[in-house]
Amino acid sequence: MNSTLKRGWSWSTWSPLPAPCLRNQAAVLAALVVFVVSGCVSPPPTKPRGRFATLRELAEVYNYVIDDTSTQNVGVLAKGGRKVVFTAGSDIALVNGTPVRLEAMCVPVRGDLMIPSRSIDIIEGRWSPDGDAMANVPVETVPLSIRKVVIDPGHGGKDPGAIAANGLYEKTVNLDMGLRLRDALVRSGIEVVMTRVTDTHLSADKSTDLDKRVALTASAKPDLFLSIHADASTDRSVSGFSVYMARDEDRSARVAEIARCLEGSYSARTTQAQSVYDTNRRASLAIARELQTVLKTRLGTDCRGIKEHGARVVKWAICPAVLVEVDFISNYSGAARLGSAEFRQKVADAVTEAVLMCSRRGSSAPKVSAAMR
Ligand SMILES: [Zn+2]
Repeated sequence: MNSTLKRGWSWSTWSPLPAPCLRNQAAVLAALVVFVVSGCVSPPPTKPRGRFATLRELAEVYNYVIDDTSTQNVGVLAKGGRKVVFTAGSDIALVNGTPVRLEAMCVPVRGDLMIPSRSIDIIEGRWSPDGDAMANVPVETVPLSIRKVVIDPGHGGKDPGAIAANGLYEKTVNLDMGLRLRDALVRSGIEVVMTRVTDTHLSADKSTDLDKRVALTASAKPDLFLSIHADASTDRSVSGFSVYMARDEDRSARVAEIARCLEGSYSARTTQAQSVYDTNRRASLAIARELQTVLKTRLGTDCRGIKEHGARVVKWAICPAVLVEVDFISNYSGAARLGSAEFRQKVADAVTEAVLMCSRRGSSAPKVSAAMR
């Protein structure tokens, strides 16, 4: 996406936060969200020491009760209104029926079901195996039902994006991945709107081009906006994928933009816009986290984490929005991967898997975009 290697346009609004500032912001956000969700933050109990723990150990440390339906292959823990089901051979726990991915598979050993020892920390939102910036935000609070997606293959036409040493244009691989993703999503019953389907720009002026992508997304009223890019760096040794979402510091301007798209009195629109913004942010994080997990597994490339930036298409989307930098076109191996149709299909399939995983989790949730006029 943004790079000194890129010819032509750049993300005018992009400027990375200094790392300590980002960490502080993430910590404050995480603490705030945990506080809002749980009401208070209690000190974490003493952790089991090994990588795995038995059902009984987890129950004792985290104050759960072992449900008597538990067997060697299915462990069931209960606390308050929460019921957690662990299954042998699966890295997914069901929390009141909602799938939550664990750090490893549960395995039966000599009559006991061995469960990854940090599972309850993950389920209760205290820890994430990926160590991303917003690791403490619990995924199960996210209502996300994805029936319509806007896919934005970055750049196009006069804007090539980044260019590989072998002459491969970013705009070309972005479009191919976008079209493959469209086909995969449509096959799964999801409606798709593309910002472009050919090698074109939406405007010869970069700023207008980006505004048009934002406007097209707003009028499509999707449940998710996905921008597809390939990354570049002056350090040619860097490779792997990153998932970006908008910075929370742009909140007030973005709430105002959402309010502009709602109906009703000024105060009603402002109140609703704040709630839509919060829902969008949690949903963006949920999809970002799912993308991170699935891409890491399916592509086998380096995972560079979930990051925040001010890219205009993500910042001004009035729906959940993420931007995926699939790999580094400036890296020799990255360019070779991006140049392979097989790899680009893998990307499309993996992104589709992540979208479906998130959507299943929130299938009973109301459509965020339904409130938009
Ligand atoms: Zn790009």
